[in-house]
Parts: sequence; C-alpha cells; structure tokens
Amino acid sequence: MAFDYKVYMESVERFMMLTEQIERVEAPEVNDALADICRFLRIGRVEASFYDMLSDGIGEEERIVQYSLRQGEYDEANVITIKEVFGEGDTVYYRFYPKAGESAWSGIELDKIAVVEKMLFRFNQRVKFMHLAEEMKLRDHQMPVWNITYFMRLAERQMKERQIGRYVACSFNMRRFSTVNRVLGRDNGTKVMLAFVKNLEDEFSQEECVCRVGGDSFLALFCKEKLDFVMEYLQGMDIFYDEAENKKICVSAIAGYYVIPDNDAARLPNDIMDKTASALKMARTAKAPYVFYNEALMERIDRIKQVEANFQKALDEQEFLVYYQPKVDLKEYRLVGAEALCRWMKDGKVLSPDNFIPVLEQDNAICELDFYVLEHVCKDMRRWIEEGREMVRVSVNLSRRHLEDSDLLDHIFSIIDAYRIPHQYLEIELTETTTDVEFKDLKRIVGGLQTRGIRTSVDDFGVGYSSLNLIEEMSWNVLKVDKSFLPQKEGGDARKFVMFQHIIALAQNLGLECIAEGVENLEQVRILKENNCFLAQGFYFDRPLPVEEFEKRMQMVGKA
Ligand code: C2E
Ligand code: MG
Ligand code: MG
Repeated sequence: MAFDYKVYMESVERFMMLTEQIERVEAPEVNDALADICRFLRIGRVEASFYDMLSDGIGEEERIVQYSLRQGEYDEANVITIKEVFGEGDTVYYRFYPKAGESAWSGIELDKIAVVEKMLFRFNQRVKFMHLAEEMKLRDHQMPVWNITYFMRLAERQMKERQIGRYVACSFNMRRFSTVNRVLGRDNGTKVMLAFVKNLEDEFSQEECVCRVGGDSFLALFCKEKLDFVMEYLQGMDIFYDEAENKKICVSAIAGYYVIPDNDAARLPNDIMDKTASALKMARTAKAPYVFYNEALMERIDRIKQVEANFQKALDEQEFLVYYQPKVDLKEYRLVGAEALCRWMKDGKVLSPDNFIPVLEQDNAICELDFYVLEHVCKDMRRWIEEGREMVRVSVNLSRRHLEDSDLLDHIFSIIDAYRIPHQYLEIELTETTTDVEFKDLKRIVGGLQTRGIRTSVDDFGVGYSSLNLIEEMSWNVLKVDKSFLPQKEGGDARKFVMFQHIIALAQNLGLECIAEGVENLEQVRILKENNCFLAQGFYFDRPLPVEEFEKRMQMVGKA
C-alpha cells in the first residue's frame, strides 16, 4: 500500500481532533479519518455492538458499523473481538475484520489496532454521554416522561416537514388530583398520575407524545385519527394502583384541544401551546370537561384579559362614564325618571356594558364599578339640586354579586348621604335570584333599602328564574318587564303576549309600578297603553344619553 507512517499519524491526529468536537459517529470527516487509519492497518471492517444492559440482565443490541469495505472484501473468519464495559454495566464489543486475501496482522499492527480500539471506545463513550445529556434535556425532572422541550422539538419537526396539519394538540390537567393525593397518599398519587399518562402514551407512535409541563399539567401531540380515543380516555379511566389487591381509581382530566389546520405550517410551537392553553382556560372557566380552540374563543379570551388588565386603571382614571336613559310617562309623554347605565370610554371609543360587565361579574370587580356609578350619579344629582333643576328619580343597577356583601347597605347609604341626596330620588335595580341563599340576602337588602326610603325594582322580570315568591315575599316598588316580553306587534307570539298582559295585571294587583323596557316603536306604545302600562323606557323615546344631553332633556326650574 502507498500509505506511509506520516499519513497514518496525521489521520490519527485528525481523528482525535475531530472526535473532540464532533457529536455524531456518522459525521463524514470522522469516518474519512478512520478509513485512512483502517487502510493503513489493512482493516476491512470495524464494527461496534452496544449491549444496553436491562435490569433483568438481557442485553439489547444496537450495532454501529464504524468502517466497512464491501462484503467479501473483508475476512469474516479472522475477526478480532475486544470487549469494553462502561456506564452501569453497558457493554460494547469491537470487532476488527482483516482485509480479505492479505497476510495475517503483524504484532506491531495488532498493537496499533488496540490503540485504535481505545480511540473508538473513548469516542463512542463521548457520543453516548452526549446522547444521554441530550435526552436528559427532553425528560421531566421528576417523572420518567418527556418534557415540554420534547413537545417543541416534535412539533417543530412536523412543521418543517409540513406534517403538522395531521395533528391535534391538547393541554390537559388532572382533575381533582389533590383529592386523589389525599385519599391515596402522595406516592400512590404519583404512581396513578404516571400510569394514567403512560397508558395514554402506549397508544401513541414515535411521532406522537405526551409531555409533562409541570405539576399535574400535560401536553400531548397526536394524530387526528386518535382524537376520539384521547377524548374518551381523558374523560375518565380506571387506573390500578395496587395490582395485587386489585385496587383502582377512576382518573380524568380537563382538556383544551387545538385541531391544527393544514395551513398552520408557518406557525411556531409556542403558538400551538398558547392555543391549547387558552382552550383549557376556557374549559376551566366554563366548568366544561373540554373545550376546542377556535378564533372566536381567542377573541373572547383576549377581551377578557384586556378588561381584567385595564379595569383598575380605568376606574382610577375615571374612564367609566354614566349615561342616563330617560323613563317616560305615556299619559303625558313626560320624562319621569332615568336609568343610569355605564359606558367605558376606552381609547376614544365608547364601549357598551356587554363588553365588560360579564367579565367584571366573574369576580367582585363589578361591585367596585357599581359603587363608582352610584357615586357619579349622586355627584350629578348634587349638582342638579344646586343648579335648582327639577329633579327626577334615577335608578342604579346593582349586580347580584353584591348580595353576599354584609356591609352593602352601609356602603350604599354612606355614598348617598355623603352627597346629601334625598332618598326618594334614588332607586336600585336588582335582578332575580337563583338560589335560596341569594333569596335570603336579596330579601334583607330590598327590606333594608325600603325602610330607609330607597325604592327598589326587579330588573329584567320574566327572563331569569322568576318565582312568584320573589315578588310576594319582598316589598318591591317597581317591576321592569324584560324587553323580550314586549310584543313586536299584536298577534305576534300569542303566548308571550298573554304572559305580557298577565305580568302587567299582576304588578297592578299587587300595587307595583310596572315599566316596560326596550320600547322601540309606536305600535308597542299603543299596546302598552291598552294594557294599562303607562311607563316606558326605550329607543323610541331616547337612547341612553351622556349627562350633558340628559340635562337638556330635564326641565330647568328657575332659581329664586
Ligand atoms: P338593563 O339594566 O336591563 O338595562 C337596559 C338595557 O337595555 C340597556 O343596555 C339599554 O341601553 C338597553 N335598551 C334600552 N332601550 C332599548 C331599546 O329600545 N331596545 C333595545 N334593544 N335595548 C334597549 P346597556 O346600557 O347596554 O346595558 C346592558 C346591561 O348592562 C344592563 O341591562 C345592566 O344589566 C348592565 N349594566 C349597565 N350598567 C350597569 C352598571 O352600572 N352596573 C351593573 N351592575 N350593571 C350594569
Ligand atoms: Mg337595569
Ligand atoms: Mg333591564
């Protein structure tokens, strides 16, 4: 052979240098250097076989061919095998086959082959550890399951290969797991969680995964065909935690799914995770077992987040405005009162209550807003009194959220009295209640307002959980018939019309004032009058008006 020792040494050096830097056995430069060494030593094939020692002692073989000529060009009969052990009993066998048809290796060649073997061993060790370290990055710290980085890698790969549209992503959270832990103990709890996840993963291919995000939260990526199966699985599965005793427990998870569309190829894994997280959040809020992500949902969540994030600042900066919608007496078409309705002046736009009240009602933020509105109404009224205007009664809406507040009455009166507003000028609108507890609280509040001269009205009567007890047991002053009961025209929905007539008659017989809200046309005015309802509020007369416009609607009474 035309190889001289210098070339050989250079190859060895090159090999050593490359193996310090390079991560993969297949790297072509490493193999080239190895090929040069092998040619010099007349080696036809080098083969490494790893035996991964499992706990029961049976090895799993993984064979790596480091260098090889074609079959027949190496001599299989005179192979030299060297055994090495590393890690916790993992074994690797190196096999050196001589080139076919050449004389046997000399002693010097055999020494050099032993050196090459050591080099390869060191190299393979590095690679193996590198793989282990790499895998460690993808494993959860506490449980033998993948972590979120693994999810990201898999998703990224499927995106690159334009396969992501075949998948569904799902965030799930074990349901009532603190109870499981309490009942079974932490160790069994962990065992159950692991089994629940592993059993699911067992149904998945290499191209699918279940990953732990932390605590009892997981993320899964799986093919669309498996959606039904996964949904059923997460709804509840029996998990054995003591096979010997046949003890099992049913575990379930609450889930947010994102069915990834075909054209989602350009997006990032983070985006997919955000979407499943939003769906999961929505499932939690809605107390549903699962929710599927869609764009409308996203908008809703965005809006909720926006409102939650900006509310306090908006309140401090007085971005909430109070509009007044006139109430009209139908006999003389006179303005006899108004309802205070809140608006949010946000970034130059006026937001109506539908956009923020339902969000604020999720927690007690609505109560702060209601007190704010009440205070603004009192402030306006104080001014009206001082300006000598003829006063009309204004009603303020109070959310049901206030019912549990035992200081509510004190709070209301402290505001009203601070502005020295005669109580007869105020009315509080409350909606119907759903539970017995609320019923009791409502009764206390309606009574408390009454005794101190503040009028109360049942808002949106007829749509909620109206019970006759509600009006029989409490001394309301006004019944506001919900707009949905208002006939669009006579002879429309006959049943609704009958109910409408009876609601008005009921109010009258009980001595309650009755007002119809949402009056939009003359026909409705006529029907109201025919049925002896002489109070109305609605767009036919006025929309809710900014305070300056409302003031123009009020009549000035000249000062003395
Ligand atoms: P609500 O108390 O039943 O108020 C009546 C709603 O009907 C108002 O909507 C009003 O603008 C609307 N309306 C009046 N006339 C007509 C009409 O002719 N046709 C139609 N289609 N609608 C009419 P708005 O102002 O959007 O308020 C919606 C709801 O938000 C209110 O219903 C009330 O429940 C709530 N809300 C508004 N301001 C406050 C507040 O300060 N505190 C609380 N807790 N809730 C408020
Ligand atoms: Mg109202
Ligand atoms: Mg109403």
